[in-house]
Formats: sequence, structure tokens, C-alpha cells
Amino acid sequence: MPTLGSPKNTIEIIQKYHFMFQKKYGQNFLIDTHVLDKIVRAAEVTKEDCVLEIGPGIGTMTQYLAENAGHVVAVEIDPNLIPILEETLADYGNVTLMNADILKVDIGEIAREYGGGRPLKVVANLPYYITTPIIMNLLEGSAPVGNITVMVQKEVADRMQTGPGGKEYGALSLAVQYYAEPYLVANVPPNCFIPRPAVGSAVIRLRKLPRPAVEVRDPELMFKLIRASFNQRRKTLANGLGNAAELTFPKEKIAEAIAACGLEPAVRGETLTLEQFARLADTLAD
Ligand code: SAM
Repeated sequence: MPTLGSPKNTIEIIQKYHFMFQKKYGQNFLIDTHVLDKIVRAAEVTKEDCVLEIGPGIGTMTQYLAENAGHVVAVEIDPNLIPILEETLADYGNVTLMNADILKVDIGEIAREYGGGRPLKVVANLPYYITTPIIMNLLEGSAPVGNITVMVQKEVADRMQTGPGGKEYGALSLAVQYYAEPYLVANVPPNCFIPRPAVGSAVIRLRKLPRPAVEVRDPELMFKLIRASFNQRRKTLANGLGNAAELTFPKEKIAEAIAACGLEPAVRGETLTLEQFARLADTLAD
């Protein structure tokens, strides 16, 4: 079986199987070997590793991963891709194919069964319609995950890395930076995919931290504060927290806590750092 990372070989496979791209599954297949090399290198895949690939498509990146990893578990939702994958991955004895929705799979079980319980490396050219739930599951879930190297929309990659102040800064930035160290691997233009996506893309690596970036007594409360602040970006922090359905603090208590943290009464949530949200959560929890 020839390697797939070229437009010619990818088109041949698609035509051979009369494969129809499904927009609802976010199918944009990679056809650039330089990008594939960069992703696999950035993920630091070794023969010791079990890699979880989300959405293998026709198996282009899976082939690269299988060459470099100890084992690869590839989870693909589209049943029409399974017979194709069985052909394109036939030469690799270290690949396990699962026809399933990644949001319904027990990732801890994959780590136990195929990775001896050691942290998985997650690599994917993600389906863009479910990027955030996939990333949040991997970061918040109890399954052991070492690093996550993924292709996402450029704008989402920017949101993951940015700090307070800008319009990209939001709940995703804070969640990613609480659990992980983000690193931008490469920007990737639309012509590296078939079909071409309407937006620019980027590869980002999230190295999961051994412990969260800040200490906070009640992380769940901190994330409620964060969501409330960014749900109503134009409001002051005090109004955003006061109006949030998820929170039940009286207005005076919120004002006191904001003052106790050394913040101005009219401060906006989008200017707070992760550390400041943590201190505010601790103050409100008292
Ligand atoms: N890895 C391939 C590549 O780079 O050429 C394909 C990437 S394509 C952007 C996203 C893939 O994820 C598609 O194969 C799609 O069918 C699959 N997919 C979409 N939703 C999924 C889900 N919920 N669980 C597992 N796979 C999914």
C-alpha cells in the first residue's frame, strides 16, 4: 500500500471506494507530507507510546503514526471509512481501529488496554465542529493523557494561547492554560487539505501539566465564574457574576470579594488573569 500523504494517492483511494465527503463530520483530509511530518514530530511520538488518533479519515496520518509509535488506536465515526482504513492500514500490525464517536468512547479504557495505563499521546486533525468538547474532555477527564497535538481552526488555536485583554481571550483560553502548556507548532493554509476548508488552520500542542497551573480550592466554582464573566463580556465583572443563572451570590458579597482581591469595582472579567480568577473563587468560597 503506498503512503497516502499526496493529493494523487488520496484522490485514487477516494475514487476507488466512491467515497462521498460528509460535511456533518468535518471531513477535510490532509494531503501535505511536510505538515504530517511536523505534527508527528511535535507530538514527540516514540516506540514506547500508545497514540490515540481521533478521526483517521482514510488513514493518512495513521500511517505516519504507526511507523513511529508502539501502538495506535484510531477512532473513526464514519462507517464508510472503515473498509478504506482496513485496506490502507493493512500493513501495520500495531493499529487498532474503532468505529465509534470519540465523545462516547472510554479513553481511560483505551489507555489501560493498549497503553499499559501510561499517558496516551493524542494526535488528530480534528473535526472542527466538535473541537472544544473533544479538547475539554481530554483536559478535564480522568484518562491519563500526556500531550495533545491537534489541527484546529487558526482562530481556535489563537484563543487557546492568548492572555487577558484581547477579543480572543475567553473561557477556552483559561481552561487550556489551567490544565496545559500550549505551543503553536505551525499555521496551515487551506490548500493542504481535500476538500479545502473555508478557514485557516493551525497545529497546536497542549502538554498536560502534572498539576494545574494555579491552586484553587474549588475549581468548579472558578470555572463557573469564568463562564459567567465571558457569557456577558460587555458587562462589568460584578454585573456578569450577579446576573449569572449558575451562581447564587448576593450582589454585596460579589462586590466585597472583588474589592478584597484588589480589583476596581468596574473591572471587566476579560481583563482578569487565571490567577486572579482563582483568588476571586477562593474569596467567594470563604
Ligand atoms: N485524519 C484525517 C486526515 O488528516 O486526513 C481526517 C481528518 S478530518 C478533519 C476529521 C475526521 O474525524 C473525519 O474522518 C471524520 O469522519 C472524523 N470524525 C468526525 N466526528 C467524529 C467523532 N465524533 N468521533 C470520531 N471521529 C470523528
